[in-house]
Amino acid sequence: MTDNKNPKTENLLQRPPIVAVMGHVDHGKTTLLDYIRKTNVAEREAGGITQSIGAYEIEVHPLDEPKSRESEANRGIPRQTPRDDFASIRKITFIDTPGHEAFTKMRSRGANIADLAILVVAADEGLKPQTKESIKILEETKTQFVVAITKIDKNNADIERVKNELASNNVLLEGYGGQISYQPVSAKTGEGVNELLDLILLSAEIEHLTYDKNAVASGYILEAKMDRQRGLEASVIVKNGVIKVGEFISTETAKGKIKILENFLGKSAKELSPSSPALIIGFETLPQVGEEFSAVEKTDLPEAGPVNLSSIGQANPLAITKETPALRLIIKASDSGSLEALSGIIKAIAQQKPLKILGESVGDVNDNDVKMAISGKAVIIAFKSKAEKGPKYLADTNKIRIISSEIIYELLKAIDDFLLELEKPAPLGTLKILAVFNQNDPQKQIVGGKVESGVFKNKAQFGIERNDSIIGSGRVVNLQQQKKDAVEVSEGKEAGLLVSSEIMFKTGDLLVIEK
Ligand code: GDP
Repeated sequence: MTDNKNPKTENLLQRPPIVAVMGHVDHGKTTLLDYIRKTNVAEREAGGITQSIGAYEIEVHPLDEPKSRESEANRGIPRQTPRDDFASIRKITFIDTPGHEAFTKMRSRGANIADLAILVVAADEGLKPQTKESIKILEETKTQFVVAITKIDKNNADIERVKNELASNNVLLEGYGGQISYQPVSAKTGEGVNELLDLILLSAEIEHLTYDKNAVASGYILEAKMDRQRGLEASVIVKNGVIKVGEFISTETAKGKIKILENFLGKSAKELSPSSPALIIGFETLPQVGEEFSAVEKTDLPEAGPVNLSSIGQANPLAITKETPALRLIIKASDSGSLEALSGIIKAIAQQKPLKILGESVGDVNDNDVKMAISGKAVIIAFKSKAEKGPKYLADTNKIRIISSEIIYELLKAIDDFLLELEKPAPLGTLKILAVFNQNDPQKQIVGGKVESGVFKNKAQFGIERNDSIIGSGRVVNLQQQKKDAVEVSEGKEAGLLVSSEIMFKTGDLLVIEK
């Protein structure tokens, strides 16, 4: 093996570009990626893709002469015929980055992992906040990119407007005083997509992307999750060296041995070279999304890192004192990328709001999560993960709320509602009516009750709560404790009251003094 930092030039081989697609939500990133996948992964293989592992590889065949190329593009015929001439096939690896705002963090890592990016801008909408955010990330990470102006088949497509808007955001296209290549495309008709792929290969050539086949294998973690049948699965992208089954592997927080290696189509492989996406089974603990991995000698394996399946989610609920009026959450998500995205947002909210995370982990909601929620008086927030019957029953019988959704914003909305509830001023005192004695005059009703919380005060205004809703208000005309006039009666004590209201009181009514 050679030193990764100083590879011998004679060992250097060309590798395909790793490309991330970025841009505003709904501008067509997924549709474009789908179109490229369908038309450039040979049909019989494409059938094998059951679920994305975060990246896939395509083969691009050279374009014909410009004239026929144009006519083909215009007729919307996708290029599917593989050539016999193997040398003419060139490869591109696409990172399937989630385009949602909530995934900014992963996306910015996507741009780091990627050699090149495609900035997608819809021709009908032009530049939007996430387009600008993407431009910023590309600039900060110094990632080369080409622009795809999408949805050009739409009636209201305005390519010139997009070009001008890009220019005013410092993205200067070729022919517009700059060097950045662009291609108008339609992911619906396929127009321009082959030209876009060619532009990417051209940009990659300029970048001179190489790897050292004798180097220690290394790359990045794209996703990591727990599969019930197969155990911990990490999808990775190889950037240097050649990764092989049986090798020991480590990241800053996790380690293991590659027991199973699969390519992006789910086919087992003995080894994979850059820039291949790969699925690895054999990590002992869950690696973090975006971490770098490398193959290691067994003796070099570090101790297990700080994050592993048994340690996550074991915050000490006892550390939360009863006095702290905070919303306590236990976060669950189907995979580590989703967990990281959601937990990142919740942590940002926690900087400003009374909110504490008692634990976070990958997988379905289990009994331990519910037990932790019971002892920590927490709400369980489950992103793309569910609770099986057992844990759900345990939660229901202990009045533990499990909020589960596939949509991150629904979960954030629920958290917001809980916080609003929490921020409501605590009532000064509540009294439950246990007996009604005299109701001849609604303004002079005589009732008896018990102070349920706080202190109940003479002359106070109160709200009347019946069956969990406020049905009216009233005022204490006279308050007595053990048949003597009292200024206030404290929690747990009984009181007799002369009260005035439009409403006729009933036993069971709760009188709530708010200030
Ligand atoms: P993403 O959020 O950026 O991944 O956007 P999507 O790929 O989900 O696309 C958003 C919407 O735009 C979908 O309804 C697509 O069908 C539509 N769309 C995407 N690309 C095109 C295109 O080239 N032409 C037209 N007419 N519609 C498109």
